[in-house]
Amino acid sequence: MPERFARARLRRGAVCAALALVLPLRALAQPMGLPSMGSAADAELPPALEQMLGDAIMEQGRRDPTYISDPDLDQYLTAMGRKLVAGAPGGGTHHITVFGVRDPQINAFTLPGGYIGVNSGLLVSAGNESELASVLAHEIGHVVQRHIARGMTQQSQNTGVIIASLVGALLAGLAGSGDLAVGVAAFGQAAAIDRQLGFSRQAEQEADRAGFEMLRKAGYDPRGMVQMFSMLMHASSLNEGKGGGAYTSTHPLSIQRMSDIQNRVSELPPVHHHDDPQFWYLRAKLRVLQAVSRQERDDALLQLRQETTQGSAVQRSAAWYGIAYGYWEAGSYAQAAEALGKSAQDPSVVPETAVLAARLANSQGQADEALRVARAGWQRWPHSQGVAVALVDVLRQARRDDEAIKFVEPCIRQWPKFAPLYRLRAQSQERLGQKVQARRSMAKYYELTGSLSTAVEQLRQARDLTTDFYVQSELDAQIRDLRQRLDTERHLLERFKKSN
Ligand SMILES: [Zn+2]
Repeated sequence: MPERFARARLRRGAVCAALALVLPLRALAQPMGLPSMGSAADAELPPALEQMLGDAIMEQGRRDPTYISDPDLDQYLTAMGRKLVAGAPGGGTHHITVFGVRDPQINAFTLPGGYIGVNSGLLVSAGNESELASVLAHEIGHVVQRHIARGMTQQSQNTGVIIASLVGALLAGLAGSGDLAVGVAAFGQAAAIDRQLGFSRQAEQEADRAGFEMLRKAGYDPRGMVQMFSMLMHASSLNEGKGGGAYTSTHPLSIQRMSDIQNRVSELPPVHHHDDPQFWYLRAKLRVLQAVSRQERDDALLQLRQETTQGSAVQRSAAWYGIAYGYWEAGSYAQAAEALGKSAQDPSVVPETAVLAARLANSQGQADEALRVARAGWQRWPHSQGVAVALVDVLRQARRDDEAIKFVEPCIRQWPKFAPLYRLRAQSQERLGQKVQARRSMAKYYELTGSLSTAVEQLRQARDLTTDFYVQSELDAQIRDLRQRLDTERHLLERFKKSN
């Protein structure tokens, strides 16, 4: 078992709030020459700058091996996050993006700019959707109260120093390669950082209060928060003495917090929340996905086998789906097909099953069947990003690039900010020899994932490849626009640096 996982297991109690910032290593290694602690800690981050820091961190984060690139999971978690934030005190105008992290530790963390990471371990341990939503609501509480921007961590002075050095690193990145993400440390550092920067007790209570209201307004069962906290307190006390005490030091989950929530719950009438079937399917998939060794995968499959005999029909089918996913990943296609067949016994099938059926047929070399399944899936779930991506993949593997490009167009209209679509389109355009269009598609992909200078580079290449005057002037305008945005970013960073 990799060391990271061994450590994570010991620290299973650590929840929530955790990571305030991913900081550049040099902030730890070379604290000299940084702005004085006092002044940096006093400054509140302007929202535009906070967003920029978040985008830059995410640009790195998406390349980290622990980042789970799964459109269905992203869509599900982000929809839950947006549903919650709609009930935020003072109106929910905050931009929330939620993503999954491959880590069995029960945890979630907030980054600048409304990005929230949810560990696979949190989903796997949640006993129902309301429990998952309760932790997410608490994290969103930190976002809407702007706790990072206000430096409301346990060591607010360190936060100030970290932000200041991150700003310095981003400026250096802009001056050098032209990309903000240069200088942002690897995402994997997050685990180490969250020990140092938990939120303050006051911030935790504020986030609880805001989170509780959002949870209630969105129709989840607020008892989920009590259940989740009890589990975490229990896990944390079990971990004491094993090096797991970090939980209580960085995440003050106090008796006080617990009784606050219990009091609020006791005043409410009972709520019955009907869990979305997708919750169970994604939970089953993540149980397999978070396993990093053969032994862990076998354990996960064993656990899922037990679940095929317990709970509701949806839960049992979801467990079969998880087993199918595990076998497919391991290349045992016949066993995967058998398990997937059993998962279809439940009528409330979800888009995940269509995606897996299409990928499985593809892996078995059954291109026509893969296409049939993916198309049927798209007819049934025309709002599933996972099905859309699977259908494009199947089309591309069948070398039907024209069709793939045609299919992607309306998808882009439906989700103009869903970056993977642009990359898929670029790959098909490239294969068809449409070099200018391919570069323009890639430019859009880079623009949406926070690499403005790489986007400019792609547009420049496109410009060199075309002799069409009209296209050239369009490209010039796009390049000008992106350069202006880069200038604005630099200006914002410099102003913040000077004022501190
Ligand atoms: Zn918190």
